Amino acid sequence: MSTPSLLILPGDGIGPEVMAEVVKIIDWYGDKRGLKFDVSHDLVGGAAYDKHGTPLHDDTMARAQKADAVLLGAVGGPKYDVLDFSVKPERGLLRLRKEMDLYANLRPAQCFDALADFSSLKKDVVAGLDIMIVRELTSGIYFGEPRGIFKEGNERVGVNTQRYTESEIARVARSAFELARRRGNKVCSMEKANVMESGILWRDVVTEIHQAEYADVELSHMYADAGAMQLCRWPKQFDVIVTDNLFGDLLSDAAAMLTGSLGMLPSASLGAPMENGRPKALYEPVHGSAPDIAGQGKANPIACVLSFAMALRYSFDQGDEATRLENAIEKVLADGARTADLLGEDGVTPLSTSQMGDAIVAA
Ligand code: ATP
Ligand code: MG
Repeated sequence: MSTPSLLILPGDGIGPEVMAEVVKIIDWYGDKRGLKFDVSHDLVGGAAYDKHGTPLHDDTMARAQKADAVLLGAVGGPKYDVLDFSVKPERGLLRLRKEMDLYANLRPAQCFDALADFSSLKKDVVAGLDIMIVRELTSGIYFGEPRGIFKEGNERVGVNTQRYTESEIARVARSAFELARRRGNKVCSMEKANVMESGILWRDVVTEIHQAEYADVELSHMYADAGAMQLCRWPKQFDVIVTDNLFGDLLSDAAAMLTGSLGMLPSASLGAPMENGRPKALYEPVHGSAPDIAGQGKANPIACVLSFAMALRYSFDQGDEATRLENAIEKVLADGARTADLLGEDGVTPLSTSQMGDAIVAA
């Protein structure tokens, strides 16, 4: 196999700061594990606007389409608030997602034991938690037609339409089953088939795909409201949860907060399989450009490092190396290493962004 390609788009604010730590880790893999990547760097967001007058240059878009994986830091910042909507930094990210047709949004909820006290839930509920929510991202009620605010007699009516085609459900279901095979081999599909037609079709299609292609994976179904309750009550019962755009929006935010700080949360967006069988993929931390702490060396790089761990597992078939990286993070946290966002107690001096990166490399 040729060297896998990785396009790095650090972006704005703390994006370049956290990405610099990921680059240290990538270099470590090359030196110590013989795991080489064909890495290239490019601009996105405000950084791209400053140079090219557009938040995503066509050349960058073309490189992203060809890369085995794209790793993005963050985009945006107060400096760009005055810009016209069409060239706002966020438009660069939206263009990437749209043109790469990234229909499956992956949000893990992963709890490192050392941070279990950080959660608002009981420690035994979250310690060791490792689940993945797969949210359909490009269809459903946020896009369905008709939509709008219409006049009906004497009053206005606000309309949105939940609409899913079989193929839209099938492709995100496949993403979820493929992920499950690289994880705990369990999928729970959530909808409201009791009250929604789209939910009935969702359940049918997921069941069909399962029987035809993924019978080795354990599949269960849950109504999304019951699922929300179970997610808070005993989240460790789940491995992969697959759900539609609206329910996934709610469930993934709730699940993320089971585990603590924004500085710890990675994400991925996946599209259709490429020629090599791996999906098109964009990995990025959930957090934004954090202008309030940018340039101060305070940002927690772990969300971005964990996004790279996801790339190792889901784009580069290096699940063991992803686990090695997660274990290193577990170790530094267990040893007491904390960036400022992870500190509640007094008397502990926080690590800087680059000190945290160095600690992970050392571990
Ligand atoms: P966006 O609109 O880009 O999502 P936002 O303002 O909603 O931006 P963030 O930029 O993620 O959200 O910042 C929210 C808060 O979390 C800020 O106070 C920021 O400093 C903090 N924060 C975000 N990411 C990190 C990080 N990696 N390490 C430490 N603190 C962070
Ligand atoms: Mg935000």
